[in-house]
Amino acid sequence: MKALHTYASLEHFLQHFHSEDACIQYLFHQKWPDGYSCPRCQHTDCYTIASRRIPLYECQSCSHQTSLTVSTVMERSRTTLRKWFTAIWFVSRSDKGVNAVELSSLLHVTYKTAWSMLHKIRRVISQHDTQHTLNGHIDAAFTLYGQSHRHVASTAISSKQHPFITAVSHPLERNSNTMVKMKLVCRELITGRRLSPIAYEQFDTQHSSANKIRFIPLTSYHQRTQAVPIQNLAKHMSTWLNNTFHGVGALHLQMYLDEYCYRLNLEAHHISTWRHLSMLCCQIC
Ligand SMILES: [Zn+2]
Repeated sequence: MKALHTYASLEHFLQHFHSEDACIQYLFHQKWPDGYSCPRCQHTDCYTIASRRIPLYECQSCSHQTSLTVSTVMERSRTTLRKWFTAIWFVSRSDKGVNAVELSSLLHVTYKTAWSMLHKIRRVISQHDTQHTLNGHIDAAFTLYGQSHRHVASTAISSKQHPFITAVSHPLERNSNTMVKMKLVCRELITGRRLSPIAYEQFDTQHSSANKIRFIPLTSYHQRTQAVPIQNLAKHMSTWLNNTFHGVGALHLQMYLDEYCYRLNLEAHHISTWRHLSMLCCQIC
C-alpha cells in the first residue's frame, strides 16, 4: 500500500485504510521498508502465520517469531489496527488534535481505551522530543498556563497556574527552520514571579545544544515587548488546550506541551505530521 503524505479528511483517510489487511500492509512496510528482516539473525525469508488477527512472521533460518506490533504503541492491544491508525490520524491534525471523549465516540471504544491510546501516542511524541535539542540562537522566556497572559508579570503565581519555559531556536544554517520547546519548571525554582537561574541552567543543559541562549526576563516593559512572540506562542498553546481538552491538569501537562510543539515543529519543517507520527508509532520505540 502506498503511503500518502497526508489526508485531507477522515473519509479520504478511511478510503486508503479501508480494511485491517490494508493496515497490516502499511504496518509491514513501516517496520520493514526493504522487506522482511529477522530481528535476531537478519535473515530475509520467513513463513507467515496468518491464523492470528495480526500475522506472525517466523524466520526460515532461526525460527524466531515476531509480530508487526512488537515494541510499538499497538503492542498487546486488542484494538484493531484501523482504529489505531485513525487515532494517530486525528492526533496528527494540525488544527485541533482530539480528546478522549471525542475519540471514544469516533472509534466506538470505551473512554478508558481512547484515553490509553492517546496517552501511548503522546508518550512516543515525548520520547521523540527528548532526542532532539534546540540549536542555533535561542530565545526563551518564562510562560504560564492557566491564566490570562496579560497579567503574566503582575501578580504571584497561584496553585492553578503552571509555569513553564518556552524557547524558540533560530538555526544558524540555511535551509533550517525554527524549533519550539515548552518545558515545565519546578515551583520551587520560582520566587514571587521570578524564575531562578537554576531553572534556566537546567533547561539549557537538558534541551539545548546551542552556544547562545538568551533568556528574556520579564522585569521591564522593554523585555516584555521582546518576549511578546514567545508569550503569544504560549497563549496559542493555552487556547488549544482549553478548546480541545477543556483544560489539563499538572500530571500529564508536559505531554500535551510536547504534542503541541511536535506538530508546530513539523509544520515549520514542512513535514507531514501524519506521515511522521505514523512512522514513530509503527516503528520500534
Ligand atoms: Zn532469524
